[in-house]
Amino acid sequence: MRTALRVLVVEDHAPLRAQIVALLTHAGHEVDEAADGTMGLRLALHSPPDVLVLDLGLPGLDGLKVCTTLRQEAPQRIPVLMLTARDALSDKLDGFDAGADDYLVKPFAGEELLARVAALSRRHEAGQVFTLRIGPLAIDRRGHTAARDGQPLSLPPTAFNILVMLAEAWPRALSRSDLVDRLWPGEAPDSDSLRTHIFQLRQQLDKPFGEPMLKTVHGVGFRLDVPGSMPGGAAGSVARGAA
Ligand code: CA
Repeated sequence: MRTALRVLVVEDHAPLRAQIVALLTHAGHEVDEAADGTMGLRLALHSPPDVLVLDLGLPGLDGLKVCTTLRQEAPQRIPVLMLTARDALSDKLDGFDAGADDYLVKPFAGEELLARVAALSRRHEAGQVFTLRIGPLAIDRRGHTAARDGQPLSLPPTAFNILVMLAEAWPRALSRSDLVDRLWPGEAPDSDSLRTHIFQLRQQLDKPFGEPMLKTVHGVGFRLDVPGSMPGGAAGSVARGAA
């Protein structure tokens, strides 16, 4: 028996949106809909769905922007199924970088959509939302482990906490004082000890790999970068998910 889910469908193509809404409703799910990214984002933030079905090509805010903003601003992790055009292979990769959990290439069979939505929700329920994924980096917040390119990182607790904070803030930077305040609340700021922990993090996260992920933003602080995926391209990014 299927579990009823709250699903938000963001798709600008009205006939397709109607079709998806009908399909999900018929399967017993409770469905909200939006025809553009701005409204979709607003609905998702206001009333977080169990699963977000998000078209990539949208007027105004596109699917990538919605996804990235959602990851920054939503109080909880919302599983995202990104819908992409058939010929947009690199869009899939961009979608994953922006924080989509799975993608579906148009046109798709109704049963496939239902199966993906259910699978995403199960992964969410199974606690896999505790896994943060950014490019080649995977962080298990519950298990307190992290891996890059599948290679486990051996991080001391404070270095691990810094990595989690940067991953949650991604793609934004965090200032040194943001980090110090959250790591050692109420204590006198000590930039030397922050430096030590950042050094330990770099030794594990970056040293064994070709390109650094931990970037110093001069005059600001630190942020994570996905190697090879700076604006415009998805080269070097890693596709994941159930596809
Ligand atoms: Ca579209």
